[in-house]
Formats: sequence, structure tokens, C-alpha cells
Amino acid sequence: LRLTDVGFGYHEGVPVLRDIDLDIPAGTRVALVGRTGSGKTTLTALLNRTYDVTQGSITLDGHDLRTLKLADLRRAVAAVRQDVAILPGTLRFNLDLEQGRPDAVLWDALRRCQAADLAERLGGLDADLRGALGGLSAGEAQVIALARILVHDPAVVVLDEATANIDTLTEARLQRATEAALEGRTTVVVAHRLSTILGADRIVVLDGGRIIETGTHQSLLDAQGAYASLYRGDDGGAAAAPGSEPD
Ligand code: ATP
Ligand code: MG
Repeated sequence: LRLTDVGFGYHEGVPVLRDIDLDIPAGTRVALVGRTGSGKTTLTALLNRTYDVTQGSITLDGHDLRTLKLADLRRAVAAVRQDVAILPGTLRFNLDLEQGRPDAVLWDALRRCQAADLAERLGGLDADLRGALGGLSAGEAQVIALARILVHDPAVVVLDEATANIDTLTEARLQRATEAALEGRTTVVVAHRLSTILGADRIVVLDGGRIIETGTHQSLLDAQGAYASLYRGDDGGAAAAPGSEPD
């Protein structure tokens, strides 16, 4: 994935992202961090063309995203959103989107995300999650969405980590599911958990819609800049600060 001079605004004259240049080699993981409102979710929304760039370009394997068929792009680039992850329908539908994959494939994905017991508790693959939605926490919903990644096997994953209402037990489960789903894929992750940040090849710090720092966890701490402040939680932007991992 390559972003060249990317700019974006939801409304004309109100830029939300500016001058974004980012090269993400195949199979590597980029963690996006930055305080709330810095543009992290917006940046991820450009990668599967939820929105189109208003300036510059994004290419996948050298092809401008706007020249790809949308269905092909969405097959190649899977997104797990920050807030919602469950579609109305059965667990099977949520994992497979009615593509008729065998049960064994779905259970294998659930097991690799350590979600087989959750699936059984819900009532199996044909459980209707419409009814169970109230019983799923935000974290459990993300685990299901991560299992869906394993079922669909996309080349690129864009993950906006959930932050709300995640208890410690789900946290550990989510961490393992995240590792299983991201392994070996090109990944852009809006990272809130330290474990996810530490697993990144490169950390990109956004502020006011611009990239202000990039590096590894250690190099950015050593630089004592914005990332180090975010990490220490002393810049007032704590909502999006990394390092909030429970232990
Ligand atoms: P958080 O850490 O809180 O998730 P973020 O870094 O993901 O924040 P974005 O959601 O990308 O931030 O928001 C960046 C800016 O764009 C903010 O000023 C926000 O108010 C604005 N914005 C986000 N979504 C929309 C939208 N659909 N329409 C208009 N403005 C939006
Ligand atoms: Mg966000």
C-alpha cells in the first residue's frame, strides 16, 4: 500500500488529513496513534474507499484504488471498525457473509481466535445474533469480526481497535485474536493497546491530520517527542493514548 501526498476533508475547505506520505510494504504492520480527532479513523476509511481521497493517491500493488473494482478492493482490504462489528443475522452469516464455506472452516477460524467457546455459548453457527447482540460486549463483537478476517483471508487488514467497555478477560482474548488475524498480512491498525503497538513494524503518529513522527516504539520513546508524551499520557489526549493495556 502506498499513500502519496494524500489529503482529505469531509467538507470542502475543512481539511482533516494533509500531506500524508506512507509506504507500507506487503506483509508489514503499521500502527497509527495520535490523540482523539487526529484523523486515524479517517485515514483507515480511505484504504477501502469508504471515502475517496480529495488530494493525492493511494495505490495497492501499484494500482490506484479508484481504478479497482470496488468488490475486488473490498475482498483485498478487510476492515474491522472501532464501533460496530456484528451484522444482523446468524453467526454463520457474520463469519461467511453467505458464501457457503464449510462449517469446519468457520470453526477453525473461531478456534484460532479462541472464540469457539463464545460461539458455543451463543448457540453455534446458526445462532441468531440479532437476539444475542445485547449479550455481546464490544470486545467479543471484535473477536467475531477478527474470526471473519481469518475466514475471508484478505491480503490487507485495516483494524480500528475497540476501546470502549473492554473487560480484562476479553482484553486477553482480543489480543490473541488480533495476533491470529493479523499474522502475515499487510496491516494498518489504529492501535490503542500496547501489545498491538509493540507488534508493529512501524508506528505512525498523527496530529491534526498530519504525520508528525514515525519510528519504532523504542526510537520514538528515545526521541522524547509526541509519541513519548502520548505514551506517558501527559498530553491531555488520553482517549487515544497508547499504553492503556491492563496487566
Ligand atoms: P478517535 O481517537 O477519537 O477515534 P480519530 O483520530 O479516529 O479519533 P477521526 O474520527 O478520524 O479521528 O476524526 C478526525 C476529524 O474528522 C475530527 O475533527 C472529526 O470531528 C472529523 N470527522 C470524523 N468523521 C467525520 C464525518 N463523518 N463528518 C465530518 N467530520 C468528521
Ligand atoms: Mg477513531
